[in-house]
Amino acid sequence: MKVQNHAIISSEDTVNKNPELSAADIKSIPKVELHCHLEACLRYETVMEAGHQLGLQMPTTKEEYEREWLLQAPMRNLADALKRFDNIQKIWTDPAVIERMALEACEDARTQGIRVMEFRYSPDFITAGKPGLKFEAVHSAIVRGIEAGRREDFAVGLIGIVQKTLPMPAAAATMKFITANADTFIGLDFADRETMPLTTYRDLVDEARAAGLNITVHAGEEPTAGAPQEIRDAIEILQAERIGHGLHILGDETVVELAREKKIALEICPTSNWLTGSVSATSEHPVRRLIEAGLPVTINSDDPGLFGIDLCHEYMLLHREHGFSLQDFNDCNETAVRQSFLPEEQKQQAWQRAIDQRQKP
Ligand SMILES: [Zn+2]
Repeated sequence: MKVQNHAIISSEDTVNKNPELSAADIKSIPKVELHCHLEACLRYETVMEAGHQLGLQMPTTKEEYEREWLLQAPMRNLADALKRFDNIQKIWTDPAVIERMALEACEDARTQGIRVMEFRYSPDFITAGKPGLKFEAVHSAIVRGIEAGRREDFAVGLIGIVQKTLPMPAAAATMKFITANADTFIGLDFADRETMPLTTYRDLVDEARAAGLNITVHAGEEPTAGAPQEIRDAIEILQAERIGHGLHILGDETVVELAREKKIALEICPTSNWLTGSVSATSEHPVRRLIEAGLPVTINSDDPGLFGIDLCHEYMLLHREHGFSLQDFNDCNETAVRQSFLPEEQKQQAWQRAIDQRQKP
């Protein structure tokens, strides 16, 4: 189904090509988000409540929480960043809390105007160091939360993450778990730095694809000379249909050509790329050049609750620093709907509803 782009644009655009957008304008844009880590979708109140229930030593004020739990300036050292991940990890422990946080993540996404939403999570990250907590219990709690959050105008799905840092038996077990639950996952993601040849995963990727799962891979995130090759490997070896970040693809025109030919979407997350040192400033992000190179670009928040941002924040940033107009946002969202791993009928139903609502006077 082809959604009519031009109908969403206000008549102002014909007068002024790029009028200033208010926070309310940004919020009212129907959005698609493809790259968002569920573990980093956090409400302050819920985190505090859950932390106290678990007997954790929690911050005493919101300021202290923001200072100690959030990552709002570029990482200076790894230990600092890891401590924050460690805090989050402890919160995702009790299945009832997990279910509640999954539901709240859906509610918060919908409030921002997101109408097609893909969350991803790592079963290994959540269960690490918790012998009593099994993948099954985590997954069923998340699925219950997601199901409760689904609406006719809000399509939502889950991607399972395999960490490339895992030793092979553990990585294989996770991939098999995700594949065995292909009825409640829509895709498989590979995250973190690789520690073994990607060909090791080949048979398991074939199994996942045969079960109907789509593949996305975190690649080309760091500003290294090898970034484009990482993206090529993700596409050629892991059969990635989308790339998490991938912003450093521009270093090799042959990889740009490959991604363009195969219509591999890039899941771009501007604030995240600044905080991890992938770009020196959000204003230096190559997002415009990626679009100009003919690559399918989508806009995402990555770890909103960890960064203290949301997807609307990323839209405002792109509007102010990169001159994104309503038309640019609509183009990215059209790309994202097409590239979403959700079943065609589900995503189109929610998306068409959002467009119809937008057209009402
Ligand atoms: Zn990510």
